[in-house]
Amino acid sequence: MLQSAAMSNANNVEKVVIIGSGPASWTAAVYAARASLNPLVFPGRASGSDLLPGGQLMLTTDVENYPGFPQGVMGPEMMELFFKQAMRFGTRVVTDSGIKDGDQVSTLFTPFQNVAKVDLSQRPFHITSDGGLEVDAHAVIIATGAKANWLGQENEMRLAQSGGGVSACAVCDGALPIFRDKELAVVGGGDSAVEEATYLTKFASKVYLIHRRDQLRASKIMQQRAIDNEKIEILWNKTVNEVLGDETITGVTLKDTKTDELSELPLSGLFMALGHTPITQFLDGQIDLDEKGYIKLKDTYRSTTNIDGVFVAGDVADSVYRQAITAAGMGCKSAIDAERWLTEQGIE
Ligand code: NAP
Repeated sequence: MLQSAAMSNANNVEKVVIIGSGPASWTAAVYAARASLNPLVFPGRASGSDLLPGGQLMLTTDVENYPGFPQGVMGPEMMELFFKQAMRFGTRVVTDSGIKDGDQVSTLFTPFQNVAKVDLSQRPFHITSDGGLEVDAHAVIIATGAKANWLGQENEMRLAQSGGGVSACAVCDGALPIFRDKELAVVGGGDSAVEEATYLTKFASKVYLIHRRDQLRASKIMQQRAIDNEKIEILWNKTVNEVLGDETITGVTLKDTKTDELSELPLSGLFMALGHTPITQFLDGQIDLDEKGYIKLKDTYRSTTNIDGVFVAGDVADSVYRQAITAAGMGCKSAIDAERWLTEQGIE
């Protein structure tokens, strides 16, 4: 695939390539572009790839906790704004028809290319897209995020995407009016499930915690929190067999994991807390990961990794906070770290 000389960096080695397309990526792009690094972003592919252009916020409805939006904002709309801001300052993106700049691409709903593989064994680093584009880069920022684990049922995904009361983030969505004084459920038995169920009791009339075993995975102190909370009822040995509802969720069919018995539970909201999977497969073991599979920071307060010139931002390196605002903050750090590192290398 050809790219026009006007749009490529001198000597065809990119100063910085950013992989990913959520708040971390576009914030890194804004900072890198304003620092005249002429960043190139691989945003991912809308279908058939883990890396969704716009990231997890494309699957969220109202975002009410991102500063600067007093009336809240829809997740996809917010990501479109992030994207436009990055493109305004000279960010370039890898689309299906080659490398394009802000004059040529106006929306995140564009067919973009995803990264197929990276070679970080020597500098400049080498990146190959799933459309066959080959790029060399002095610095790389990995901001590929993590994907929430879902049950994988058709109606679950449909209602999650349409704002029909199914979500994988209680902290993001739980305070929405549609969930107020309603009966809700959280699926999962880990710390997140208990934390999210406890959080939801601030708004809900009742919260069911649906867990597939007879023991929670959550830490003892968190377990006690769930048991002590009068609004939480734990449904042991149950899996969600089917998510019910047309425009909005009306309930679930539960299956008992011991007896296979089916039962129906009416609900106005369902929250998945099945853990997250960081998107690192394309790295093919070239970067140090922590014990949970997230990219390991060389220095806790920076964005550096074990490979000089490779920086990281957002949920792919954060199993703790996982918020848009924390990802954006880390995106900013990664661009500043990359800029300083490039200057140290004499690459201006
Ligand atoms: P997690 O510990 O991996 O728990 C995921 C839960 O989902 C497990 O209970 C698992 O069941 C269940 N699950 C997975 N797939 C399922 C399926 N297909 N159907 C039904 N259930 C399924 O994830 P997490 O709760 O997000 O926690 C991740 C890490 O963050 C942990 O280390 C946790 O300690 C930490 N964390 C800490 C805090 C805190 O300290 N405040 C808060 C949140 C998270 P099984 O138990 O049967 O495997």
